[in-house]
Amino acid sequence: MPEPVVPPPLAPTVAGAPPGTAPAAPAARPMIDLDHLSVVYRTRASERFVAVADVSLQVREGEFCVIVGPSGCGKSTLLKVLAGLVRADGGRASIRGEAVGAPRDDIGFVFQSATLLPWMTILDNVLLPLKVQRRPDRAAWAERAMALLRTVGLADFARSYPSELSGGMQQRVGMARALVHDPSLLLMDEPFGALDALTRETMNDELQRLWLSRPKTVLFVTHSISEAVFLADRIVVMSARPGRIVADIPVDLPRPRDVATLDSGRFGEYSRQVRTHLYAQETPR
Ligand code: ADP
Ligand code: MG
Repeated sequence: MPEPVVPPPLAPTVAGAPPGTAPAAPAARPMIDLDHLSVVYRTRASERFVAVADVSLQVREGEFCVIVGPSGCGKSTLLKVLAGLVRADGGRASIRGEAVGAPRDDIGFVFQSATLLPWMTILDNVLLPLKVQRRPDRAAWAERAMALLRTVGLADFARSYPSELSGGMQQRVGMARALVHDPSLLLMDEPFGALDALTRETMNDELQRLWLSRPKTVLFVTHSISEAVFLADRIVVMSARPGRIVADIPVDLPRPRDVATLDSGRFGEYSRQVRTHLYAQETPR
């Protein structure tokens, strides 16, 4: 079977679309299916450490699902299981009906820090997943990478090196890199946690635009309640360790969301709801 050589074009954004524009119709089978998943780490002293206990979560095709929870509750672990980087000890994890295992080509992972390779230019960093996946036709992919760099406002920096960019700019490059092979599943682990508030809001806006222009399933981890409400179709709240799901809140706010959304009463309502669940499960020690 020949590899697909023609990269998908970046679709025009739907920034001007009427509010409530829906992403792709959900398929019957979940994109992500975590079924009574448990993960146990072995510490250096050979002790068992239960990081995630009995988590069941289904995420629909095209859904933007946000996970919030206290530090150490197993959010990153869940993403790593899905990316095939950590093994489950109990239960099952599958993507589109296939048990997770080896890393897949249809996943993009955005890490908390940009993790760019310092000796490569920005453009080559963005193209890295295609190199790893040995996809031919670099020129066509480079065009797509440039289009993504334009989208995140960094076209002028394609030939620069990571050390010449600020933290926020590097994080944008990380986002372009995760999207370059047009993955159908995007795993994002506190991608904007280190950014200042203003840059973070801009990034949220850009991410929403990208997601609306090419719908994909997103599992996004954050500590920020307002970021969660702004982005999510649905917010899953996890408890302190071992991580369990304590609330699952659908967010029914029209899209595209903007600054006015942040000031709306319903936005405040959702924020309060998430905060209540987060604080309710914080047990005194
Ligand atoms: P979160 O992302 O919610 O902060 P993590 O998934 O990173 O949490 O970690 C969950 C728990 O598992 C934490 O208590 C952490 O210390 C522990 N943990 C994570 N990775 C390892 C590892 N490789 N070995 C041992 N313990 C780990
Ligand atoms: Mg984490």
